[in-house]
Amino acid sequence: MCVLLSGVLIYTLIQVSTIHGEDFGYDGVIGPKYWGETYRECRGKHQSPININILRVKQVALPDIVFIGFDDPIDDVHVTNNGHTVLIEVENEPHPRVSGGPLDGNYVFSQMHFHWGDNDTLGSEDKINHRSFPMELHMVFYKEVYKSVKEAVKHPDGLTVLAFFYELDRHNHPAYDDITSALTNVTDPHSTVVMSQPFSFLNILPLDLRRYFTYKGSLTTPPCSEVVIWLDFEQPVRLAHEQIEIFRELRSANGKIRHNFRPIQPIGDRTVFYNVDNNYFTYNEIDDPDTEKTKPKQKKSGHNSGGNIQLNMIYLFSVLPILVKNHY
Ligand SMILES: [Zn+2]
Repeated sequence: MCVLLSGVLIYTLIQVSTIHGEDFGYDGVIGPKYWGETYRECRGKHQSPININILRVKQVALPDIVFIGFDDPIDDVHVTNNGHTVLIEVENEPHPRVSGGPLDGNYVFSQMHFHWGDNDTLGSEDKINHRSFPMELHMVFYKEVYKSVKEAVKHPDGLTVLAFFYELDRHNHPAYDDITSALTNVTDPHSTVVMSQPFSFLNILPLDLRRYFTYKGSLTTPPCSEVVIWLDFEQPVRLAHEQIEIFRELRSANGKIRHNFRPIQPIGDRTVFYNVDNNYFTYNEIDDPDTEKTKPKQKKSGHNSGGNIQLNMIYLFSVLPILVKNHY
């Protein structure tokens, strides 16, 4: 009886998901455990998300990240419920782009989307010291030389994803009101609206964009291609509970998308790098009494000095061979 019942249930789920073209989900027979049956790469050794153990990260001082077009107000921004998440896409050229940090070359914005959980205790994909956050933003960029996402996913350095965590605040984050009001118009799967106001990337990000973790991983949805340089920013964005609740109202073909995060995957032989602010080293230098004796007082300004740049270069050169090795 029980076997028969579950047989009927499995058949129904497959039928519903096939009819609507949703070939993966987060529960039951189309859940993460089964992705590898259809998509071989989901069983790979360098998958995402991961847990970042901050006692095991390698501290580095990478060149500054360059954010281009992040503070421009962008018109014609499309918000789409694709049955798995909500996608934010930009129509007009030029698209925002990013370079520097661990990246070799320019990366062009493709889309951003969100992952969330049933309640505020879980929802992020990557975790830090096994801590989950209620939501995570992924900004996806493809390497400019590959010209498209389709071509970029064939190369190990094809994509970079800037990931941002959320934490709870008592107050609404005003920059998110435009997103959440668009969401109320795309609760049905496979629906799209154009945002009513110009949209600026910088407004929805945290203030500190210097401290981040970086590692090589994969797409967190099928086909799970191992082509992503991940940058997980340490400072979370603060949102009100009510704002996160609106994401949980979105629907897939199988009902409300109450959660859409993949469980953490083994880290294997990978290293997670932790980039700290360049000024961090300046302050450390000054705190060292031996160093202070030999250096002029003006170094306390906190600006980059010749000595500081030299120190950063030493760090960079000790890290580069590791980064290069990890690219292949
Ligand atoms: Zn994602």
